[in-house]
Amino acid sequence: MSQNIRFTLPQADIPKQWYNLLADFPEPLPPPLHPGTRQPVPPEMLTQIFPENLVRQEMCPDQYVEIPEPVREVYSLWRPTPLLRAVRLERALNTPAHIYYKYEGASPAGSHKVNTSVPQAYFNKAAGTKRLATETGAGQWGSSLALACQLFGMECNVYMVKVSYQQKPYRRMLMHTWGATVHASPSDQTNFGRKLLAEDPNCPGSLGIAISEAVEDTVTHPNTKYSLGSVLNHVCLHQTVIGQEAIRQMEMAGEEPDSIYACAGGGSNFAGIAFPFLQLKIKKKKNYRIVAVEPSACPSLTQGELRYDFGDTAETTPLVMMYTLGHKFMPPSIHAGGLRYHGMSPMVSHALKLGLIEAQAIHQTRVFEAGTLFARTEGIVPAPESAHAIAAVITEAEQAREAGKKRVILFNLSGHGLLDLSAYETYLQGKIQDV
Ligand SMILES: *Cc1c(COP(=O)(O)O)cnc(C)c1O
Repeated sequence: MSQNIRFTLPQADIPKQWYNLLADFPEPLPPPLHPGTRQPVPPEMLTQIFPENLVRQEMCPDQYVEIPEPVREVYSLWRPTPLLRAVRLERALNTPAHIYYKYEGASPAGSHKVNTSVPQAYFNKAAGTKRLATETGAGQWGSSLALACQLFGMECNVYMVKVSYQQKPYRRMLMHTWGATVHASPSDQTNFGRKLLAEDPNCPGSLGIAISEAVEDTVTHPNTKYSLGSVLNHVCLHQTVIGQEAIRQMEMAGEEPDSIYACAGGGSNFAGIAFPFLQLKIKKKKNYRIVAVEPSACPSLTQGELRYDFGDTAETTPLVMMYTLGHKFMPPSIHAGGLRYHGMSPMVSHALKLGLIEAQAIHQTRVFEAGTLFARTEGIVPAPESAHAIAAVITEAEQAREAGKKRVILFNLSGHGLLDLSAYETYLQGKIQDV
């Protein structure tokens, strides 16, 4: 074999710390505000729904946070994840660009989300929590938290957006297999859910509604805390294992990326790969182009407004400064369920505002065209979410071909699409539409 295309690190090289971009932002991140007083929320308000140790991480000023050994032990089930060079995709595109991807689909739940569900379950357990409540759209987060709760001996109660509950049975089954309880949201389990069902028994649900139900469940049950799979600072923090490994693996490959891409729903897998490189961009004046890719149907970064907004539909969360389409926004039902959130992580929003990163929006048909080409050249069927990043990468690789210039491109392949095959089938039948 002439060429090395797969770069792997030994288990001992799982990072020992998470990297906290909050410490290195050239301007401080605007704090979350109490909706009534519009004053910064006191930590006591957050500890109603999160354990103290995670609230401390949420507001942590330190540049690095130690990863507890039991968390690294669970990470070692799939970490360090491989970095691969997509030479067959490069050939198909006839591009001088070198394309690398970090493969987070290698985890048991099939995506990057377990990088944070595992520490969240661990820190909750350490704080005495017995039961976690959460929401899930298409089920990636619910299944990741179900697995983490199972591994640390906790109950997991999931509110799953009703359309997905009905149309995407496999992740629901995965959650059941890992021992979680799953409710179609809006549900009859909460006051908010019952109110919505009384108004419209066929309400299809949304992520914002499911968050409201999970938060209400949390405050009305003993020993229960709430867990969120994206958006928050501590979630972005946990995901930085991705970028830290990728920096070392790119060194093994003997190259440095010119451009770095990831899809962005709430922003966590993007943060995971981008933030460690952003540290080098801020501190070592590296000239990386770092791009968040979102769906044209839910374009918070490219079409939203940067302002304080609620994280949920029922207006129960603190106000956070983020790019938002408004907390009442009902995204159209595109196939990339994980990218249907009205807002964007405050940290990712702040990085865009400061000009450290860029954002692009892409239509569904182009996304599935890219995902299919990737599957046919590289073998892995990407999650429709991840295929957004691939579509943007392909565009840059084609531009490199036109310009006759070598570019080194890195992207995060946030998950596999083996539980999204019905969306691929719809595409192959020519029935995917741009919304
Ligand atoms: C949930 C999910 C996303 C979107 O969430 P982010 O917080 O923006 O990363 C992207 N890709 C996959 C595979 C997902 O499961």
